[in-house]
Amino acid sequence: MDHVISGVAKFQKEVYPSKETTFRKLAEGQNPEVLFITCADSRIDPNLVTQTDPGELFICRNAGNIVPPHSNQTGGMTASIEFAVAALGVSHIVVCGHTDCGAVKGAINPEKLDSLPHVREWLGHCRAATEVVKERCGEEQLCLDHLEAVTQENVVLQMQHLRTHPAVAAKIATGRVALHGWIYNIKTGGVTCYNEESGEFEPMDSRYEAFSHKAAVTV
Ligand code: ZN
Repeated sequence: MDHVISGVAKFQKEVYPSKETTFRKLAEGQNPEVLFITCADSRIDPNLVTQTDPGELFICRNAGNIVPPHSNQTGGMTASIEFAVAALGVSHIVVCGHTDCGAVKGAINPEKLDSLPHVREWLGHCRAATEVVKERCGEEQLCLDHLEAVTQENVVLQMQHLRTHPAVAAKIATGRVALHGWIYNIKTGGVTCYNEESGEFEPMDSRYEAFSHKAAVTV
């Protein structure tokens, strides 16, 4: 913990002064363009991966980057999504899964979660993803060989759940919010993106013009 505490001191001494104008402006309010939903996994840093600054991403994290389908029961995710979309007016929502996701492994082997009853129940929100993969591969029992497929289906499923939230549905219907499904590869730093037309996850450069443009500039 010591390095975390000394990190705060370093931030205040070295980082804050170099961006003081930005922080003073941010103190007056936020206007993020993107709601970024990802896993709580410690190996993911949304601002690092997207090279964005404070104020640019409204970030919601939990085990498995799950968006519970809308219900009349209030939950942290439901309230945060409603706030981001209806109050802050974000125009993009990214659901970002990742490789080696412990939550997805848990969804594949829920019988190993007997000592973690809340995790087991939470991962029930991924069940449709495991069922889709089971149906596609014709297996009754999934194993870690199916990890990539379930990770992808889970992102697609959570995008579907997003559409059940009234604030999101309204903005999608009027073209004011766009959904994105990504998978971040911890080992390679790569990001693949869901293409709704093909139903496949594709490399980022074939999905977004801005990515190719920036890459070309760097080269
Ligand atoms: Zn994870």
